Amino acid sequence: MALLEGKIVAAAQEEKLRAQIRELSVQPGLAVILAGEDGPSKIYVRRKQEACERVGMHSEMVLLPGDVSETMLLSEVERLNQDPKIHGILVQLPLPPQIDAKRVLEAIAPEKDVDGFHPLNAGYLLTGTPKQVPCTPLGILHLLKHYEIPLAGKQALVIGRSNIVGKPMALLLLQENATVTLAHSRTQNLSELTQKADIIVAAVGQAQLVTGEMVKDGVVVVDVGMNRMDGKLCGDVDFDSVAPKAAWITPVPGGVGPMTIATLLYNTVKAAQENQA
Ligand code: NAD
Repeated sequence: MALLEGKIVAAAQEEKLRAQIRELSVQPGLAVILAGEDGPSKIYVRRKQEACERVGMHSEMVLLPGDVSETMLLSEVERLNQDPKIHGILVQLPLPPQIDAKRVLEAIAPEKDVDGFHPLNAGYLLTGTPKQVPCTPLGILHLLKHYEIPLAGKQALVIGRSNIVGKPMALLLLQENATVTLAHSRTQNLSELTQKADIIVAAVGQAQLVTGEMVKDGVVVVDVGMNRMDGKLCGDVDFDSVAPKAAWITPVPGGVGPMTIATLLYNTVKAAQENQA
């Protein structure tokens, strides 16, 4: 078993981005909108801001109260759409219940949509001409490529069908010529699918969903899940029973999480470069 060390690969990617940013004629800028006081969201947003600082990127934090109106939030998005210092806009999810998240995400200028959630960017990915791709699945692809994990012709199983992780992950693996199966909450006999898979990406949010007896020897396992068990962060994969059978596996923490942040920076630099061209 070997580890897919997202933490190390992400640090190397940040190093590359820092050099690239020095060469650009514009300083890439990322704006993060946070509405409300959601605890985990505040932590994620702070991590994103710190990452911007590490690579020499401009960052702007827009903090809005939990009872902010949709009109107010949309006017902030519009202001950032027009701001030449900002190349990437990210609206931290979840949004408070009075806000229609879909409307807000659709209001972001597609070329500044560094989360890749705008339907236009989702459509580009679906049709095989990706532009801005969601950070977590793209980060996973970068991680697999870094370790030269073969994907073409492999049986890849993605567990979870969210627009943020599962669906775009399946599309990226398809683009890499894997044979892709997408499992979800209504899937029956999940272990029949896991047993056949050469590559498993688990993005569910359920601790210990994938266990050692469910996987075959030599499997590559990417664990996206972030769950708390006895106060400890753990993924969707029971690491202790799966790791001895796996050829490659991501640790939690230190696997997918750091790649997601590095890819957000990557997407923002890309947006700034395209804006400069
Ligand atoms: P989500 O809740 O939107 O989607 C979960 C998916 O799991 C759904 O599509 C559902 O159909 C499926 N599912 C539920 N129960 C299942 C079961 N028993 N068998 C098979 N599929 C089942 O979640 P999400 O936003 O895609 O996130 C998934 C997990 O990944 C969460 O733990 C989240 O915290 C984590 N996450 C981590 C990162 C990171 O950077 N590490 C980024 C995004 C999400």
